[in-house]
Amino acid sequence: MRLLKIQNYIGGSLVAPNSGKYLDNINPAIGEVYSQIPDSDRHDIEQAQQAAEKAKESWAKTPKNKRSEIMMRIADLIDQNLEELAKAESIDNGKPLKLAKAVDIPRASSNMRFFATGILHYSNESHDMDGIAINYTLRKPIGVVGCISPWNLPLYLFTWKIAPALASGNCVVAKPSEVTPMTAYLFSKLCIEAGLPAGVLNIVHGLGSKVGASITSHPKIKAISFTGGTATGKHIASVAAPMFKKLSLELGGKNPNIIFADCDFEKALKTTMHSSFANQGQICLCGSRIFVQRPIYDKFKTAFVDKVSKLKVGNPMDSDSNLGAVVSKEHQEKVMSYVALAQEEGGTILTGGVTVNPGGINEKGYFIRPTVIEGLSFDCRTNQEEIFGPVVTIMPFDTEEEVLTYANSTEYGLAATVWTQDVGKATRMGANLESGIVWVNCWLVRDLRTPFGGVKNSGVGREGGFNAFNFFTESTNVCIAL
Ligand code: NDP
Repeated sequence: MRLLKIQNYIGGSLVAPNSGKYLDNINPAIGEVYSQIPDSDRHDIEQAQQAAEKAKESWAKTPKNKRSEIMMRIADLIDQNLEELAKAESIDNGKPLKLAKAVDIPRASSNMRFFATGILHYSNESHDMDGIAINYTLRKPIGVVGCISPWNLPLYLFTWKIAPALASGNCVVAKPSEVTPMTAYLFSKLCIEAGLPAGVLNIVHGLGSKVGASITSHPKIKAISFTGGTATGKHIASVAAPMFKKLSLELGGKNPNIIFADCDFEKALKTTMHSSFANQGQICLCGSRIFVQRPIYDKFKTAFVDKVSKLKVGNPMDSDSNLGAVVSKEHQEKVMSYVALAQEEGGTILTGGVTVNPGGINEKGYFIRPTVIEGLSFDCRTNQEEIFGPVVTIMPFDTEEEVLTYANSTEYGLAATVWTQDVGKATRMGANLESGIVWVNCWLVRDLRTPFGGVKNSGVGREGGFNAFNFFTESTNVCIAL
């Protein structure tokens, strides 16, 4: 069988990599190669950068409403191709089709629409110096920028970066994760159909160590927006910072989910199922450390474990599968190594802790049963390191002070969830959690205008709303004496 060969999108055309070489792309739910990805290198990045350089003046001068119109057309095309894109995302990533249909793809079109319209409301600041002078601050596109995105929410996070970059008048050289390239490829076809001018967006597929590294180190790519692991982010910063590039880093997390005894029990229980295991736990915002206040600890644990043990892990295409496959064999092995570590550290597996073979066409896929572990100390490795899979730990606490110590003990600080009916307690937790995002009595409720990002080793900078436009523009203050 001839496998589909994904192509790079450079200078407005779909092209083969200069090397002529391809990598295998695996369907994780089947465990087999199903398409091929360009094994691109620095030559392809050079070509993409040159195409972007050629387009940058004209795109920067294109009126905002015209840029917006083109982006809105792309958003409409995403919606019109929802079924195909959702299926492709599910096959590439292993996530349930219903999740890709309900979340990933609709969110990709809303990212495009949000920034396409947001740019029309983005205005310059002006500061009047009481008759002495007047200042106004121009916001200009940077020029050519690099966007590098991960595999967990492929098109969702890819568009979250490129949309503000394009809307604010930059040309982009982008690299989706090599593990999940398909929807970015389909997206490049939609950009051509929508009439995005050649060179404005260039998508180069391939390995992080070659393609990502060439974007990061290219002297004419002036800003890097990266979402991925903390170790990769650290490496990227070590290359890009001495080149004085603008850097936005959205990195790993080890998010606490804090459940006080006065919570709405049923709501906390239901949402904790999602915040623990949505997308097989492979969302940077998933709560992987569940802290439950002692008076309801046993009740919550029993109800939670009962519900988790009933979740169906299976074919992502089946509408009754709650969890699909994890993204790759390597990732399955990594997650399972943490299950083993948790046991070595004295943890007890309350449910899960095993790989699953759903049989049939999924016999060789990479599936893991959702896992709940008890009996670990807050500072052991299992509770400090990012696992990024369907594995959570659960532990009791007594006081607010104690749970804050536990919650804030990791090197990460991306998101936290708090369950309480007491507004004073909610406010104190919001103020004292070391976290870029705190959800109270909800999880993953996203207003795209709000700042998004982490503190500590979870990242540098904020995405979302005008923060993203501020990142993707350079400011010039003009001071006119009166
Ligand atoms: P990685 O850091 O492995 O990869 C992210 C991207 O960087 C991929 O496109 C990867 O390419 C590329 N890359 C790898 N090495 C380099 C390099 N040397 N130079 C430049 N680019 C490189 O992360 P994952 O894809 O494994 O994603 C999971 C991680 O992402 C988790 O830690 C998760 O917490 C984090 N994440 C953070 C979010 C946030 O908003 N804070 C949101 C979502 C995920 P390739 O795939 O080819 O290796």
